[in-house]
Amino acid sequence: VTPLIEAKGLTRVYEMRRGLFGKAIPVRAVDDLSIKVLPGETLGVVGESGSGKSTLGRMLLGIDPAQAGAVTFEGHPMPAFGTAEWRALRARMQLVYQDPLAALDRRLTIATQIREPLDIHNLLTKSQRDGRVQALMAAVGLRPDQADRYPHELSGGQRQRAVIARALASHPSLIVCDEPVSALDVSIQAQVVNMLRDLQDEFQIGMVFISHDLKVVRNVADRVAVMYLGRIVEEALSDVIFASPRHPYTQALVSSVPVPGQPLKGRMILQGEPPNPADRPSGCAFHPRCPLATDICRTSVPALRTIGVGRSAACHLVEGATAPIAA
Ligand code: SF4
Ligand code: MG
Repeated sequence: VTPLIEAKGLTRVYEMRRGLFGKAIPVRAVDDLSIKVLPGETLGVVGESGSGKSTLGRMLLGIDPAQAGAVTFEGHPMPAFGTAEWRALRARMQLVYQDPLAALDRRLTIATQIREPLDIHNLLTKSQRDGRVQALMAAVGLRPDQADRYPHELSGGQRQRAVIARALASHPSLIVCDEPVSALDVSIQAQVVNMLRDLQDEFQIGMVFISHDLKVVRNVADRVAVMYLGRIVEEALSDVIFASPRHPYTQALVSSVPVPGQPLKGRMILQGEPPNPADRPSGCAFHPRCPLATDICRTSVPALRTIGVGRSAACHLVEGATAPIAA
């Protein structure tokens, strides 16, 4: 089966200056990263802030250019950002990000904004568009009387529902959701995530679900990729990642999430500073925080290797063995 979207060797380096006259430091936000999403599949991308996951999401959609590597969408090379070919593709790939208020125009009603992609891409007849907007509002749990409301007249959760309805309007085959619920009240996060999962399933959309919160990803992802400083350190089916994480970083993340029906194992506390892309440690970038680090970890970069069917990890201590390394 042809992947819906496939990225190979993606690399994005930007220059950062410390202070006005400081020396420019090259920062590798995304570093030689390869990933694919199958049609109708949800890939969870997990990592702390600074791991490059948002940059990756934007690169997958061709919004942030890559210095190296390539993205293929539905079997074709991703056209360059801003070209007519790229704009035409935008109907098939959509982005939902954290702040729905920033994503919406405060001067336009909710219905007008949900309808926008249909108008821009000239989809359906004008009279059919109204019906489609009503159906989309119902699908995301908005009431018909909210059609004529403005963004500030809705709650945060309702606004994000409207953004999701707009993203679905053009029947995309891919949605990239970047922290779609982090700005919402904890009490409604699960509702919005469950709704996204149901819609993804119903319409068989491929989804990249980016989050710093492994708990949230667990609910929605078929597969999970864990990122650290611009690279994938572990990738596996969601159930597998949660049942037997192999990379020490994943083990630490998983140990902080209670798993229903399983005894809570000892929580692994990460030492040291959160990752800073401008100051990448030598060798395994995780070594200053890794409780299992040895000498080789400080000098040699562990390659991402296959460690089982559909699973890979980048750690010197993880071989093809089946037993999980001690947590
Ligand atoms: Fe820890 Fe070494 Fe594995 Fe990196 S390579 S995760 S430092 S054990
Ligand atoms: Mg982010």
